[in-house]
Amino acid sequence: GTAAVSLALTAAACGKAGDDDSDGGNAGDSKTIGLLLPDSVTERYAKFDRPFFEAKVKDLCDDCTVEYANAAGDAGKQAQQVSSMITKGVKVLVISAQDSAAIKSSIQSAVDKGIKVIAYDRLAQGPVSAYVSFDNVKVGELQGQALIDALGDKATTKSKVVMINGDDADPNAGQFKEGAHKALDGKVDIAYEQSGLWKDTVAAQKMSAAITQLGAKNIAGVYAANDGMAGGIANTLKGAGVSGIPLTGQDAELAGIQRIVAGTQSSTVYKAFKPEADAAAQLAVNLLEGKSIDDLATETLTSGSGDKVPSQLLTPVSVTKDNINDTVIKDKLYTVQEICTAA
Ligand code: BGC
Repeated sequence: GTAAVSLALTAAACGKAGDDDSDGGNAGDSKTIGLLLPDSVTERYAKFDRPFFEAKVKDLCDDCTVEYANAAGDAGKQAQQVSSMITKGVKVLVISAQDSAAIKSSIQSAVDKGIKVIAYDRLAQGPVSAYVSFDNVKVGELQGQALIDALGDKATTKSKVVMINGDDADPNAGQFKEGAHKALDGKVDIAYEQSGLWKDTVAAQKMSAAITQLGAKNIAGVYAANDGMAGGIANTLKGAGVSGIPLTGQDAELAGIQRIVAGTQSSTVYKAFKPEADAAAQLAVNLLEGKSIDDLATETLTSGSGDKVPSQLLTPVSVTKDNINDTVIKDKLYTVQEICTAA
């Protein structure tokens, strides 16, 4: 009677003590979820993914805590971050891999310790329990189609288009590229195409090389894989005296939306961050509490390592001048005032 009651109270008190993020309390009883994001140059991670994820976890689970780490574009650093989270006693890891193949052995070590791993946005290799993302081939198709639409009657096989793709270590980059080719191939002349890193500086260098090779005035439009890259490319185009040509992007970053308003970028792709982060939080809490995820992850995808992964894929939306109001403003990502300050 009494002994059992006092034991239960002690256990409850320990659970609360774990809330303060310190290593106090029994790691075996901790309800800690690790969130590992890949880079710090892309706006979305710190501004949207992290806060939305943390808020949803709190919402779903009072005594859960989130440990956060950002790899700053360094795959080695991300591997260390996984090790350190294993040491801290996390029960679930939610990870957007900087390098989906390189992270495989880290994921294996976590799983060997009984930790469940969720691939977030990027499908990491290894034994992951679930994956949440968008239909990334569709993202690429929307980008390509938006470029065709913006070219209008210049969308001909004589028009030279430059394609600057994302980082090959990220499987999403290949899917964006695949989708974009579906929309562009046979419709325009893809006269220059290279993969880069997810960095404005690298994209700017590639754009300069394309200008040198093709001549600034011969370029009809540019496919940029995301808004960060589009920013670097827009600067390079401006420096070369090119204005008003179609330029794509992705992420609906504030600066990207501002360029769309200013006319220096023609489109972006909005992947609603909140539903993605919410879905990851729900999967994480279910796995932590030993509940089923069957109703959440209804599709099965195969990762680069051949693992079959229960997945949840959300739908991306193409954004141009015409639907800024119905997307990022409606979802309260930005106010009109914020968007219009730089324009
Ligand atoms: C994400 C994009 C992001 C890019 C760079 C991709 O995997 O899907 O939203 O812009 O990585 O971080």
